[in-house]
Amino acid sequence: MTYLTAAIAVHSLEQALGAAVRAAELGADLVEYRIDTFTDDPNDVTELVQRSALPCIITCRPTWEGGAYDGDEQTRLSLLEHAGVGARKPAYIDLELAAFEKSANLRQKISLVVDDPDRPRQSDTGLILSSHDFEQRPADLLRKVKDMAEAPLCRVIKVAWQARSLRDNLEAFELIGQQVKPTIALCMGECGLASRVLAKKFGALLTFASIDGDTGTAPGQPTLGEIKKLYRWDSLNADTRVFGVIGYPVGHSMSPPVHNAGFDAAEVNGVYLPMPIPTEYEHFKATVATWLATPELHFGGASVTIPHKENLLRFVREEGGAGSEVEALAERIGAANTLQVREDGSLYACNTDYAAALDAVCDGLKIQRDGLAGKQVAVIGAGGAARAVVAGFAHYGATVTVYNRTVDRAIELAEQFGETAAKLDDLASSNADVYINCTPIGMHPDVEASPLDISNQQSAIRNHLGPGVVVFDTIYNPIQTKLLREAAAAGCETIPGTEMFVRQGAAQFKLWTGKDAPLEVFRDVLAGHLKSS
Ligand code: NAP
Repeated sequence: MTYLTAAIAVHSLEQALGAAVRAAELGADLVEYRIDTFTDDPNDVTELVQRSALPCIITCRPTWEGGAYDGDEQTRLSLLEHAGVGARKPAYIDLELAAFEKSANLRQKISLVVDDPDRPRQSDTGLILSSHDFEQRPADLLRKVKDMAEAPLCRVIKVAWQARSLRDNLEAFELIGQQVKPTIALCMGECGLASRVLAKKFGALLTFASIDGDTGTAPGQPTLGEIKKLYRWDSLNADTRVFGVIGYPVGHSMSPPVHNAGFDAAEVNGVYLPMPIPTEYEHFKATVATWLATPELHFGGASVTIPHKENLLRFVREEGGAGSEVEALAERIGAANTLQVREDGSLYACNTDYAAALDAVCDGLKIQRDGLAGKQVAVIGAGGAARAVVAGFAHYGATVTVYNRTVDRAIELAEQFGETAAKLDDLASSNADVYINCTPIGMHPDVEASPLDISNQQSAIRNHLGPGVVVFDTIYNPIQTKLLREAAAAGCETIPGTEMFVRQGAAQFKLWTGKDAPLEVFRDVLAGHLKSS
């Protein structure tokens, strides 16, 4: 069993005991009381252990190991000793390897409090020997793990270090997998989330989570709510397939809540994580290659977003190996947003953005994709989103005009797909069947902006807009942009960017799981997150 452990910084007895009750309600199995700044009176520690709502770990972390305790070692030892004097014992006491190795006196005293294999059993309390590095992976990490493994008194090995990249997580999994002793191996920081969530998949003794976002005790610690619900703690096991969103930054991506809720609803044994990878191709290549080369991870694929959409194409082309493929239209667009790892290990890169845009519009027009032939489509913008949209509509025979602030970019994009370009000002006199905004004009916080001047009742564009015309805004924050509100008021069929977002995700979901995505769940989760963001 992997214990979900709430980390509690103790400021007072009542605050800590209350926090443990809350942790139990939120689904924690264990609490770690960090008594660094709690008290000078050892009896307080005894009482804390006696009254705890959950089994506990007692830790008094000194400043030299990243904690807040700055008193003398004698007092610290006395606090730890008193954790074990009551009728109820702590499940574990955590002590730094460095302190343990340095002082024979400390080793002798602590051996009286914890379970000592060399003595008749006098305590159930296990000793966790720990080592932390808040800067990097320590050069002597393996030596430390060996020392912990060889110390008879040590029941649990704990190492934690600042992850420099997603690759660090793999070493944490490897250490856990050695199974010499129960092990906690955690990576700190944004890149270390996988080690915390997947601790259960790899059979670690425990993972830590904070009760809420403000009370964590280490960088990158998720909350109990996040780990339980968002990252599907109760469903995780050794066979869980791992997916994620690769980008930089990815901290605010809506994809993890959407896909994880989809896995829940469709009963898929999967988990979906944010995967930050710095911009350069070499980072992308090294990280994705090592994740793919770790079969126990069951890495099934990823959504790929800015700035890696071109990197994904190149990676699958150059490193994919036998049987790997890039979707032809993704190649023409020059960007892919989806990586699928097939059962035989070959890779497939494709672009679900263009298909999502096509299907959102076809549903709005109540036609099949073939019915787009001959439709006049005005695409506003000439960036990444516009590129996918133009490619998709041109492929199905629509007549596309690209309107862009920088006309040269519009010309370049239009020419690549055999279409036409125009100045942004020309929109005012356009008469397309479909308008697609692929610029950020109208996006939060600039919500009173619109790329089409529809408010002027006398304008040519206002007279053109009405029933039969579709207006699609790729922006999804806010869901109802000014453009969509005004177009709807003019009688147009309107489509929000959330439809593109959920559909590109749904196509990925189908590719990875073979199951239809629960679109309503996707929509609800996305709307909920947009409302609270
Ligand atoms: P991008 O590559 O940076 O392109 C932005 C485009 O917007 C460029 O053509 C740029 O014109 C134009 N633009 C930017 N600010 C402008 C302004 N103030 N006035 C006129 N034109 C302006 O961005 P992108 O990745 O294509 O994303 C564009 C939009 O698509 C975003 O709002 C994003 O929310 C949306 N999107 C939605 C989804 C979805 O799933 N719903 C997916 C992807 C993107 P210049 O060439 O003149 O700079």
